[in-house]
Amino acid sequence: MTMSNEGLSLTLNASARSEQVARGEGVQHERVIIIGSGPAGLTAALYTARANLNPLVIAGHELGGQVSLTYEIENYPGFPQGLSGQELVELMKAQAERFGARIKLFSAVTEVDFSKGSPFWLKTDDGTEYLADAVIVTVGATARRLNVPGEKEFTGHGVSYCATCDGFFFRDQNVVVVGGGDSALEEALFLTRFAKRVDIVHRRDQLRAGATLQQRAFANDKIHFIWDTVVEEIIGDEKVRAVRLRNLKTGEVRDYPTDGVFIFIGHDPNSDLFKGQLERDEFGYLVTDRLMRTNIEGVFAAGEVQDRIYRQVATSVGQGAAAAMSAERWLAEHEAERASQPHTVAPNE
Ligand code: NAP
Repeated sequence: MTMSNEGLSLTLNASARSEQVARGEGVQHERVIIIGSGPAGLTAALYTARANLNPLVIAGHELGGQVSLTYEIENYPGFPQGLSGQELVELMKAQAERFGARIKLFSAVTEVDFSKGSPFWLKTDDGTEYLADAVIVTVGATARRLNVPGEKEFTGHGVSYCATCDGFFFRDQNVVVVGGGDSALEEALFLTRFAKRVDIVHRRDQLRAGATLQQRAFANDKIHFIWDTVVEEIIGDEKVRAVRLRNLKTGEVRDYPTDGVFIFIGHDPNSDLFKGQLERDEFGYLVTDRLMRTNIEGVFAAGEVQDRIYRQVATSVGQGAAAAMSAERWLAEHEAERASQPHTVAPNE
């Protein structure tokens, strides 16, 4: 793997830190730290806990991340009646804790230094500093928001960022999809399985999506396009009733009745914290290999921060398990290697 030239932007005082680390001052040393508490992170916690690695999960400010926003999950195996995202996260947390995982809630990692290799240095927003022999990064991605009135209020009550999760609830109803990229078209096509009518609202008169998806969307009788238009407001009472649309060419504003609004204007992986240290692709996703290894030995990544394709709870769980197993193996090899190294006496020892 090659590192981009972001690698030069480390702002941390690495030499001062390595002296501090060498002295073990004020730094909490862990074998494994998992950054993030979505399905990938909690699964990595379960697996590393069961491997007796006593993992510490730094949960971020929202336990569960994106999935905790999902009203109901019906495509995660083992729960035939479905369950809410929050319920699933609580169950995953309890299962990991049962085997000894420690979960630090309401705390986010604000700085990392992977430049010196294992043990890796991390700092959280409460000022605590850590060293971790291995790190598993599962910080997820964030669906871009429109940032219009009503959007936040109706999230989970008609506003959604996941057709696979929520499409089923719009059987025989009318929905609006916002966006003109591959995601918008792919999800709009998925929504036609349930919805009576799908209106794609796009801010231009040309789609960004690839030709095949465009052809499929144009050929689908349930899909209609509202061009050159933006959503200015999402209107409703206990649920969504309409979107306020503005035509960017004519300036016309109208309230367009709908039962749901699906927003697909892109996702951003939450990888900025690792800029310059972990290799990222052109979209900002962390680059991993099949063993969930990043470009830094001992740092693994799983879930949506490194997955641009699947973005499902089930796939994130699998990636979290794989990352944990790889971390466990790496630690075993690394520790065996260290133990077999001859002890050299330093001049002042
Ligand atoms: P994307 O390609 O960045 O498209 C985002 C769309 O949302 C664009 O049409 C953009 O409009 C629109 N948009 C952005 N901000 C907006 C705003 N504030 N208000 C209204 N509209 C806004 O994102 P994506 O569709 O999520 O795809 C991300 C990447 O994943 C792409 O590389 C895509 O090819 C890939 N992907 C591939 C597949 C597939 O191959 N099956 C499926 C999903 C995603 P403009 O066009 O005017 O910029």
